Amino acid sequence: SDRTPRIGVVRGNRLLDLPKLVGSHWDGSFPGSMQAFIQAGPEAWRRMELLIEKFGSGNFPPEAAPRPEEISLDAPIPRPAKNIVCLGSNYAAHMEESARARGREVKIPPAPVFFTKAPTSVTGPLDRIPWDTTVTSEVDWEAELAIVLGVGGKDIPRSQALEHVFGYTILNDVSARDLQQRHYQWFKGKSLDGFCPMGPHLVTADEFGDPQKKQISLRVNGIVKQSASTADMIFTIPVIIEFLSQGMTLEAGDIISTGTPEGVGLGRTPPEYLQDGDLVETEIEGIGVLRNRVVARRDVLRTPL
Ligand code: MG
Repeated sequence: SDRTPRIGVVRGNRLLDLPKLVGSHWDGSFPGSMQAFIQAGPEAWRRMELLIEKFGSGNFPPEAAPRPEEISLDAPIPRPAKNIVCLGSNYAAHMEESARARGREVKIPPAPVFFTKAPTSVTGPLDRIPWDTTVTSEVDWEAELAIVLGVGGKDIPRSQALEHVFGYTILNDVSARDLQQRHYQWFKGKSLDGFCPMGPHLVTADEFGDPQKKQISLRVNGIVKQSASTADMIFTIPVIIEFLSQGMTLEAGDIISTGTPEGVGLGRTPPEYLQDGDLVETEIEGIGVLRNRVVARRDVLRTPL
């Protein structure tokens, strides 16, 4: 079958093939990826929305509605153009558990703590998390709400920040704790291949509603490890965008992950790290669930769950 990546749109409980649904009605070259579509800008989004409304309710051609077994979900943006910007320490209870585990003093930061994940770490919402046991022995989970910018900008005031957001998705900021410690800086321990499951969908901002009122949770083998509300963020999304964009240009398609609540493996007594075969489910209200199995081998990406 045709394995070419394409954009889908969720209508009710169906995932529709967007090029097959509306492609022939699109004026100009059809965006070949979610990133290209986002970069096309608000006028293109509105045109697409109208086409989806017109053709997506009922009488669509059967080839536009693939059967579930024909679908393999990629991350919404499988290969971001830039590093994913992440926040450390954006939930107070998570700060406390991390500080305790590392024997450090708890200090609420006066400004957001930014770090990044490499674009090559991104993997799909149902893909395996490859664990190279020769590189790390402390693989941990971090459920996070991620935002995708639709409109770039610089020096964006918090009062206008949400107008720059295209949509929201789920990200598991998988972390090699031993590498974070060893290299004194988080980038390496956060950027291993397959350490950034993302998806399962990108929910547009108009549909998602208030991003600071969402339940966020994570389970390992069905056991709840994290369960919190995005209301508990120290720096809200508008504040994050305001800080990040000060003197620094943000662009359409940029991804910002807003930090994880309490309940990571590092913060437990004794610490708990992911093991071969563990199933990690990361869920956010209004978006869906990531289901990623940890596999302690090298060539494990894209094999069936
Ligand atoms: Mg994180």
